[in-house]
Amino acid sequence: MQLSNRITGINAGGSDGWGIYVMAGEMERAGHDITHLTIGEHDIKTDPIILEAMYRAGLDGHTGYAFGAGNPGLRERIAQRVSARTGVPTTPDNVLVVPGGQAGLFATHMAVCDPGDSAMYIDPYYATYPGTIRSCGARPVPVRAHAERMFQPDAADLILAARPGAKSLLINSPNNPTGVMYTADTMQGIARVCQDENLWLISDEVYDTQVWIGDHLSARALPDMAERTLVIGSMSKSHAMTGSRIGWIIGPEDALEHMGHLATNTTYGVAGFVQEAASFALDQGAAFEAKIAEPFRRRRDLVLKQVQAQNVVRAIPADGAMYIMLDVRATGLSGEAFAETLLKQHHVAVMPGESFGAAAAGHVRVALTVADDRLEAAVAQLLQMAPRKAA
Ligand code: PMP
Repeated sequence: MQLSNRITGINAGGSDGWGIYVMAGEMERAGHDITHLTIGEHDIKTDPIILEAMYRAGLDGHTGYAFGAGNPGLRERIAQRVSARTGVPTTPDNVLVVPGGQAGLFATHMAVCDPGDSAMYIDPYYATYPGTIRSCGARPVPVRAHAERMFQPDAADLILAARPGAKSLLINSPNNPTGVMYTADTMQGIARVCQDENLWLISDEVYDTQVWIGDHLSARALPDMAERTLVIGSMSKSHAMTGSRIGWIIGPEDALEHMGHLATNTTYGVAGFVQEAASFALDQGAAFEAKIAEPFRRRRDLVLKQVQAQNVVRAIPADGAMYIMLDVRATGLSGEAFAETLLKQHHVAVMPGESFGAAAAGHVRVALTVADDRLEAAVAQLLQMAPRKAA
């Protein structure tokens, strides 16, 4: 039986970029001790106090169908949080609870793109972006952010890509995979392009609690942008709740009402006991979130120090998120070849930059997701692959 072009085309027939990750898993099953620096998942589990709140909520009866758009109490808390963090007045009607940031990426693109419409996103990009856009029947249009500009997108490039008639632009700051946070100038340039070219801005802010340098600027807080911006938030990274599948979309009321209909007709909401646990977790406040983020800040500093002690591999000095991007072009290897050799010879798994788009070729992404000493040992092995150049 014939499947739809839409579903068979999600991965566009190409590699999904997970080759090294899969190979590392196979080597581990064959008995090798592999250091996994690939996926963005904490080395701690969800805090037991959140799990207890989830269990209590279940016992209290939150086991039936929940409100499709999110429980009123949770939407209220999210609205308060967003108002306080961004300064943009936000009510529960501006909030839709979704099962994770990924569901938010899908729902927002469904909301703004008709089949065949062009949806722009910045390359390097989080691995699911093009597949998510294709899942919605839209056409993914990558716009390169260049290593030479520290991966800050350039407004002129965005205009060129938008001119043939794009509907939306997806951005992500702090960024996965680069760790870069967009500067105020970059953000203002993005806002101008969205206004001039009449684009929706979809802003993936799932790393907004992992900020090492400066302050996070939410796209919705830019002048005159709230009406055309949809922000995606998630508790995966901020509260180490990746498996609970809980996140949100913030945007104009009417857009959210329609996305609420999409939720009714797809997920039918998020488990009530998870929503209650999420409310409890948000009530733990900023100190709790800082505690979750702290190991990544510390490890970022450790890795930067190690890399700065040699002169072949160059680090992009991450402003945020749980990754460090390393430029390995001076070794003469592609990111893929470098990652494969590192895995086979040293049993350290990192993601090749090529998995995140053409703009990150010749780079590797190191996830800061193992204990400090193990991370330091793995990075030392990685740097051994890059013989020192004479100064
Ligand atoms: N956006 C980015 C940039 C991510 O890195 C991730 C997860 N790694 C997601 C969205 C999706 O996260 P979740 O669905 O767990 O909220």
